[in-house]
Formats: sequence, structure tokens, C-alpha cells
Amino acid sequence: MTAPKKTKTEAQRPLRGRRILLGIGDGPSVPAVWPVIQDLLGMGITVQAILTPEALRWTTPEPFRVLTGLAPWVAPEALLAGIKKGVPLQADLMAVVGGTAELCLSVVEKAPQNALSIAMLSYQGPGLVIPAAGSTASVGLQQMGWESPEPLTADAPAHEIVAAVVRLLLKGSPACPILVTAGPTREPIDPVRYLSNRSSGRMGYAIAEAARNLGHPVTLVSGPDEGVALPPGVERIRIETAEEMLKAVISCHRDFPILIMAAAVADYRPRAVSATKIRRDREARELELVANPDILLTLRGEREDLVTVGFAIEGGLDETALQGAQRKLETKGLAFVVLNDPQRPDSAFGGGTSRVRIVWNPADAESGPILEEMPVLPKVDLGRLILERAIAVWKRRSGM
Ligand code: C5P
Repeated sequence: MTAPKKTKTEAQRPLRGRRILLGIGDGPSVPAVWPVIQDLLGMGITVQAILTPEALRWTTPEPFRVLTGLAPWVAPEALLAGIKKGVPLQADLMAVVGGTAELCLSVVEKAPQNALSIAMLSYQGPGLVIPAAGSTASVGLQQMGWESPEPLTADAPAHEIVAAVVRLLLKGSPACPILVTAGPTREPIDPVRYLSNRSSGRMGYAIAEAARNLGHPVTLVSGPDEGVALPPGVERIRIETAEEMLKAVISCHRDFPILIMAAAVADYRPRAVSATKIRRDREARELELVANPDILLTLRGEREDLVTVGFAIEGGLDETALQGAQRKLETKGLAFVVLNDPQRPDSAFGGGTSRVRIVWNPADAESGPILEEMPVLPKVDLGRLILERAIAVWKRRSGM
């Protein structure tokens, strides 16, 4: 078994290589901004911190230098000297967390008091101000073009601040990178045998194709696909086991705002894998199984901003199945669940069509129905409907 390889083009990493000027306006925002910076760095974004004297009462520049790899800007003189030399302040985004009334006013009145207000006045480009806890957005700054999505303030959970930053960075770029998993996993017993399931991977491949057709960069983490063709333009990471799928998803999920888990991940794997073929030397033999990690549950703890879609097979499409799907929705924190029944002839594993029910998380359904009954559809069309719904959730959550 080979380790999953990660080979992405720049187009599939829309945030990698971006540069953000991140101002910290007040003291209480210092600890709040820490996990935000960690998340942004995890996405491959370069972060240049700028600290006010208020922030410096809560910290020294050193931890920021260690975390970001860049010395934070703190001294107005150094910044002014650079600007005078004609070095323009350039970045993909300037975000100010903990914008106090005083800081905002000094920028509006063009009377900078410190490195941050100097930087804000010298910078031209998309800007985001998240007011200090208890403050409100400055109308004057908004009139100067700074965005301030209400009611977001610096005491909001880190993932909300990250989502606001990512939304602005992706603004104007129509494409949203999509991560899809597909196929079964194979859990080895010995070099020639494995445990698996009947999934063909066709549903996940159809979703990937729909995403590609709509112009979204798409990466498919795929278990063994029995001859399902990879749509040109789709990047594929091949895996065999559930643990490899988890590793592949963990290694790249930060590049994606949406994850569609269409894979039929094996729930169990043999506790021990024999290095040599197990010989037939007894009448009966027991195989001890251990539970595989749950990929969606693992990610739930890591990425609250990730839009996740799950699939469920609950032995039918009836009310009991529906309740099972609803439980999955809650425990795995999904936007919606696609409930299917591969025992139906119109929805068989490997077949071209499927009849599903889409069960929505009330928080993401907005005013739409909680339950959508779909007719029998070609998997390609169903793939597009699932994808469009996931993108609509992402846009709604990001305020687009
Ligand atoms: O709990 P159940 O396996 O029925 O949930 C199905 C959903 O959870 C699917 O979207 C599947 O891809 C995902 N899953 C997972 N990790 C597992 C098993 C299933 O993410 N170990």
C-alpha cells in the first residue's frame, strides 16, 4: 500500500500563497486572534501581524514572530520610513481584529497614532475590520471601503473570524474548491485477501464531474474504483483503507470549504494483518475486527467552518431510515444527508440511477424543506443537485 500523494496545482489551492496583513487593535483580541492565525497559516496563507501599543500591553512581539515566521510590525517609525521610500503596502487582504473606536476614528480622520493606523492608511486593497468586543463597526471606515460584517466582533469564535477572512479572499473568484470522497475502502486481512463492500464509487465520481463541469477545482479521494472513469480535470488521490482515506482527507481538507463524503468507508478492519497468506489448516477460524476511525467525526472537531455532506444507508427510505439519517446529521454535524437504499433496483450499487431522500440540518435548510424527496435520477444529475445544494450552503454561511 502506498501513502496518499498530494499533488495539487496552484489553481486548486486558491488560498495558498496569499498574504494577509493582520492588525490586532486591542489587548483582549490578542488571545482571540491566536487560533485564527493558526488556521490561516494552515491554509498556506502568509500572515504579517501588526500590533498596536494596546495589544503590546498583553503580549510581546516574540510569540507572533515565532508563530508566523515574520517579525510583527510594531514601530511607526520603521513603517513610515518604508512608506516614504515608496515601498507600497501590498497584500491580498488587510484584516483588523479588535478595531477600537479610537483606532477607527484615527484612520477616518487621517491622524494615525501607531503602526496599525499608519498601515491602514497606507494600504490599498480589500480590507476587513472586526470591531473590538462591545464596539460597533465604524461607519466612517465602511465609507472608506472597509468591510465589517455585522454582528461579528473580535470575541466571536475563531472559525467565524476565519470564515469572514476566507470569504473576502475568495470574493470575485467564482470557483469554490470541492473535496469529494468516493468508493469503498479495502481492509487487508493478508496479502491476498481483504474486507470491503459493494460500493462502485460512481456517485462520488458523478459529484466530482458535476463540480468540474461547473468550473470548480475538485479533488477526489477515492478507494478502489472498479473501472469508473476519472473525469478529465479532476485530481485524484488514491487510497485503499479507511485509515489511508482519513490521512488523505486530513492532509488536504484545509484547502477546501466543502467536503462531500460519498465514500462507503468500512466500519471495521481486521485487528491484525497477516504478513503471509493465511493457510487453510482448520475447519473454522475467527477474524477479530476493530472499529475504523470516523472521518466526518474526526473533522468535526477540527473544522467548524467546513460544509460537510454525508451519505447514509439505513436499510430503506422509510421513517425509521429517516430517523437514522437525522441522528447522523446531528452527531456528524452535517449540512445535509443523502439517504439512499442500494437494495432498490433503481438505486443499485454500480447502477446508473439512484432514488434518494435529502435530509436537511434545520440550521442549513433556511426556509427550504427539511426533507426533499427526489425522483429516480441518473447519478450524474443527482451529483449536480447535491453539489449545487452544498455550494448554496457554503454561500449562505459565508454571507454571499
Ligand atoms: O455512520 P455511517 O457509516 O452510516 O455514516 C455514513 C457517512 O459517514 C458517509 O458519508 C460516510 O462517508 C461517512 N463515514 C466516515 N467515516 C467512517 C464511516 C463513514 O466519514 N469511518
